[in-house]
Amino acid sequence: MSLYQRIREETARRADALWAVASALHADPETAFAEHRAAALLTGEFEGAGFEVRRAAAGLPTAFTARSGEGRPVVALLLEYDALPGLGHACGHNLIAAAGLGAALVADAVRDGAPGTVLAVGTPAEEGGGGKALQVEAGLYDGVDAALMFHPGVYDWARAPLTAQEQYRIGFRGRAAHPTGNPTEGIDALAALVELFNVLSALGRRLPEGSHVQGIVTQGGTATNIVPEYAEGRFGLRALTTAALDELAAQVRTAAEGVARATGTTVTVDRASVRYEHFRDSAALSERFAGHLGRSGITLTPPAPGVYLGSSDIGNVSGRVPSIHPFVAIMGADGSDHTPEFAGAAASERARRVLLAVVEALACTAVDILREEGLRDRAWEDLRRARV
Ligand SMILES: [Zn+2]
Ligand SMILES: [Zn+2]
Repeated sequence: MSLYQRIREETARRADALWAVASALHADPETAFAEHRAAALLTGEFEGAGFEVRRAAAGLPTAFTARSGEGRPVVALLLEYDALPGLGHACGHNLIAAAGLGAALVADAVRDGAPGTVLAVGTPAEEGGGGKALQVEAGLYDGVDAALMFHPGVYDWARAPLTAQEQYRIGFRGRAAHPTGNPTEGIDALAALVELFNVLSALGRRLPEGSHVQGIVTQGGTATNIVPEYAEGRFGLRALTTAALDELAAQVRTAAEGVARATGTTVTVDRASVRYEHFRDSAALSERFAGHLGRSGITLTPPAPGVYLGSSDIGNVSGRVPSIHPFVAIMGADGSDHTPEFAGAAASERARRVLLAVVEALACTAVDILREEGLRDRAWEDLRRARV
């Protein structure tokens, strides 16, 4: 029997157990950095299969690693398992976790003496907390040769058009005064913040495609008979690439400092979130995955031009390690993730079929990576080009 046939059989043998994990996670959603029961369930599954488990990896209580084998090459399967507040598993991360679990177990079971390590990484808090970004900073992906995951969606796309994103907190400090009693003593911090919105709206008209700033006022004074001494806003910055995001952040900082000079205020500009980098696809690996998935009757295409699907912390991994993040549809393209309908789809019969097809294709890709030095070399070459 060929290797890929054995992977298909191993996947089928584990199908009910993997679907039980996906369903258990779906029935018990936990939000970013609070995924304690999910992490316990998944680490228990890995320990039961003989993997060496390390909990709280990279200092994050609900992260983990599970490894089998030793040395290079190291192929990593990434598991997300956080849900959305009030919406449950409306991003389908229960399927990402079960797919990573299944692919790691199946790949390890059929690796046929291929050297190296199968590494599963539990990556908490994709929704806003940036678990993978923190793991990257902690060096968790150093020495890893490939990072594999999939994301359920409404499209069948071989790679993910994910942009770069970060948030800033910008605070202006002026001087309080009575607006009619001693108005000339006052320096209106809220007026400075409003001016920044005006400047940013002018800046917005000449930003490159995909670069965008969205601001809200988070502090704007305390009473109408006091000139606001302090005012603060929060600004979400997005750009198509991490380099464009750095450029945008520099422009926003220049604008804030210019407004401060013009209004006689002082300003502080602080990053208020982890930075999500844009996603760099490893074509060598995503093409291989798409080929394997095709045997299950799911055809992946390149993403539609000009469509961007937000940001994800897989971007930060993809800048350091050859990575894939294909989308596989669990509902029609008239739907959207982060909706109650998508949460329903993440527990549907179609989700089960997608899960098993993806487990098989991820496991085939993982074993290929362990066995084929040429594939690994091409993947690193992709990444070197993407970094330029
Ligand atoms: Zn999401
Ligand atoms: Zn998601």
